[in-house]
Amino acid sequence: PVTIFWFRRDLRITDNAGLYHALKSGNPVLPLFIFDKEILGELEDEDDARVTFIYNKIEDLKSALNTHHSDLEVVYDTPEYAFTKLIKDHKIAAVYTNHDYEPYAAARDGAVKQLLAKHNIEFKTFKDQVIFERAEVVKDDGKPYTVFTPYKNKWHQKLKPFYLKAYPNEQYLKNLYLFKATALPSLTTMGFTKSDAKFPETGYEKFIADYAEKRDFPAIKGTSHIGLHLRFGTVSIRQCATDAHKAHEKTWLNELIWREFYMMVLHHFPKTMDNAFKPDYDNIKWINNEQQFKAWCDGETGYPLVDAGMRELNTTGYMHNRVRMVVACFLSKDLLIDWRWGERYFARKLLDYEMASNVGGWQWAAGSGTDAAPYFRIFNPESQLKKFDPKLEYVKKWVPEYADLSKYPKPIVDHAFARDRCLKAFKTALS
Ligand code: FAD
Repeated sequence: PVTIFWFRRDLRITDNAGLYHALKSGNPVLPLFIFDKEILGELEDEDDARVTFIYNKIEDLKSALNTHHSDLEVVYDTPEYAFTKLIKDHKIAAVYTNHDYEPYAAARDGAVKQLLAKHNIEFKTFKDQVIFERAEVVKDDGKPYTVFTPYKNKWHQKLKPFYLKAYPNEQYLKNLYLFKATALPSLTTMGFTKSDAKFPETGYEKFIADYAEKRDFPAIKGTSHIGLHLRFGTVSIRQCATDAHKAHEKTWLNELIWREFYMMVLHHFPKTMDNAFKPDYDNIKWINNEQQFKAWCDGETGYPLVDAGMRELNTTGYMHNRVRMVVACFLSKDLLIDWRWGERYFARKLLDYEMASNVGGWQWAAGSGTDAAPYFRIFNPESQLKKFDPKLEYVKKWVPEYADLSKYPKPIVDHAFARDRCLKAFKTALS
């Protein structure tokens, strides 16, 4: 019999927890990837760059496995159908995979586990994409933290070298199953075209040395752009945290802890993927003006920092963190558009889209989340611009017509008026 290792958001051989355990399971390991029809079916753009990114990485994995005379079986189907067929074609002892904490993934894995159990096949899952998961960092009474700082302090306390140790997978690759996989389905078969997006490199080391000074200025490339790689597991979080530790780069390490904090929150409070963490905030009467939403999406609001951010997102699939905060606050507070609209737009566009961090970031901006900015703190997009892009370098890069104000749109809303309107709407909802 074989042990199947099911790759998902961990597209690497090195330091992959589930793969390590599979290789030591006593049976030859058949590597598998499923292009999940359910997930792909939800995507709106046929040139979605993330699908191309995954596809490239699948090809890389396949070649790497080929050098060990093994292969990667790649199936385009729903996971349940994929496993039904695999069970017919192979004698399977167990399926190993890594944890995924999103609500869809939890339901999917529950269904796969049941299906496998009917055939006496074990389904074993492992922590891989975080240093600490679920209930590993909780309050003394066992309840999950809902505030970041005490969570972070406990996280640091709990950290021992053991948690950062890499899994030595290379030593066990001789345990791979020697076989030739069926042909890789093409992108076109799956309804996609190749995107010509430029993907960031995995080299984050050069950004973390002076991260604390540079991270807030969108005109400088002062952050790592590692989000996409963390999302799909093309870097190991243990490696990132080890390097941050070695470089004494606490600020950057703390950002990695924010990621784990939000994953922990989503795991314990899955409803918050589309409900306010603080339920009263779902009483807010959003205006939801479609035209203004379109202006925001297109970067045509007449607020240069907001417009630059949205255009950076639309062109590259990335937006600087400072600007993400500004555009999210502008949409939910100045325009009184439901944060869920913005969350969905980011989900469609961001290469580094991560449900937990995105929902966390949006609810923070709208005031409804854990650790949220209080609702009366409303960013002024003009003063944010003066502070974080004083020479207008970022704005001029993304909004070239800003140089000639006669060609640049007038603000779609007056900030002072919008601020007042927002305070009233939030006060009414929360009283
Ligand atoms: P760096 O600054 O170099 O940080 C390294 C890594 O730490 C990031 O790649 C990310 O994995 C993690 N990280 C950093 N800041 C945060 C944070 N505030 N919360 C959680 N993790 C963090 N991040 C995502 O990864 N996916 C999202 O979909 C996402 N949506 C966001 C939406 C809004 C409205 C806001 C305000 C923030 C969002 N963030 C999201 C957090 C943050 O903006 C990005 O992680 C960061 O800008 C990515 O750039 P970087 O890889 O250069 O990060």
